Amino acid sequence: MTKVIKLALICQQSDSNGMPVDYKEVNKILWELQRQTREIKNKSIQYCWEYHNFSSDYYKRNGEYPKEKDVLLFTLGGYVNDKFKTGNDLYSANCSTTVRGVCGEFKNSKKDFISGKRSIISYKENQPLDLHNKSIRLEYSDHEFYVYLKLLNRQGFKKFNFADTQIMFKILVRDNSTKTILERCLDEVYSVSASKLIYDKKKKCWVLNLSYSFSGEITHNLDENRILGVDLGIHYPICASVYGEWKRFTIDGGEIEEYRRRVEARKKTLLKQGKNCGDGRIGHGVKTRNKPVYSIEDRISRFRDTANHKYSRALINYAIKNNCGVIQMENLEGVTAHSDKFLKNWSYYDLQTKIEYKAKEAGIKVVYINPRYTSQRCSKCGYTDTDNRPEQAKFICKKCGFSENADFNASQNIGIKNIEQIIKEEIQI
Ligand SMILES: [Zn+2]
Repeated sequence: MTKVIKLALICQQSDSNGMPVDYKEVNKILWELQRQTREIKNKSIQYCWEYHNFSSDYYKRNGEYPKEKDVLLFTLGGYVNDKFKTGNDLYSANCSTTVRGVCGEFKNSKKDFISGKRSIISYKENQPLDLHNKSIRLEYSDHEFYVYLKLLNRQGFKKFNFADTQIMFKILVRDNSTKTILERCLDEVYSVSASKLIYDKKKKCWVLNLSYSFSGEITHNLDENRILGVDLGIHYPICASVYGEWKRFTIDGGEIEEYRRRVEARKKTLLKQGKNCGDGRIGHGVKTRNKPVYSIEDRISRFRDTANHKYSRALINYAIKNNCGVIQMENLEGVTAHSDKFLKNWSYYDLQTKIEYKAKEAGIKVVYINPRYTSQRCSKCGYTDTDNRPEQAKFICKKCGFSENADFNASQNIGIKNIEQIIKEEIQI
């Protein structure tokens, strides 16, 4: 089932590199793309007619219609699309969506044109811009949704002198149902399909008609006795495993660290530029001068939020694939700054919230356990000792010699049914 939701967009004042963007320039680009889209549509209709005329003549002479591929080497849509590979500024996937749309429309209503029930299509001003699903990327950060649209091809970048590869907009979210739909698109519960960008002349703003599809109800018959233990760890942001099984799910935190390093380096360069900038930004106080720097801070948090969405999705997919009906996680409320679980740079709560709601959506039960001793306990023999952790990343049991990655050992413990009770009894002895 496919549905469409209308989303009003606000042009962002900086691009994904934190550089300032003038919304008037963006409007100019988009209006020019509209004009080109209209031109391409009208030309496409002409090509369709030409082929139609050829094919009717052929029929009159030979008593049968020719095969499109015999005449054009491609299907009609492919043939027309080939005509617009150059000579415009539109991102190729979007241009192709436009052309194929026109060819489809022509084919569907050909009979009506010929019989005179309908006049030949002519595309007017203010054409919507077609967006291939490849050209749409959603992001979520600090309770705001953003969309990145790939609209220009290489020729277009050069022509408009636009630095970024995508144009970024904030989405105006007016109600909770819109929020839910966007969240589900972001989590890939819904999949985003070809959409349209339209200029609303009355409201003087751009509107995204976002198409999304989903396949009815999700029913997984997962095994309630298979528990996936999830450790939010030091070495890996997430390490998950089923008790007694060696197979594991891990997320490497390197991606986020790498991103942070890159952004920090860029921030330094920008700050340096800000001190002796000779352009229009001088004389407007520190806040204006350092504008790109502030938006880079936003970028880090947005990246982290999006990463948490991605990681939690991957974890849930792993749980489903491994037939786990239950996820056990640490209750982080008791975790203090003294604990080695405390990582202030990593938003564990945010990650857990995302895991929890996605688990529920997939029909997986979430159980929170007290994480006390789960990192010191040997998951193989049950021996608990602080000395079992010679270093943060390593676990070696003093009693049985079991040696493993510390996060994996913790995830094994966390995945044991009634582990709190078991530890209580073990410690008392
Ligand atoms: Zn042991």
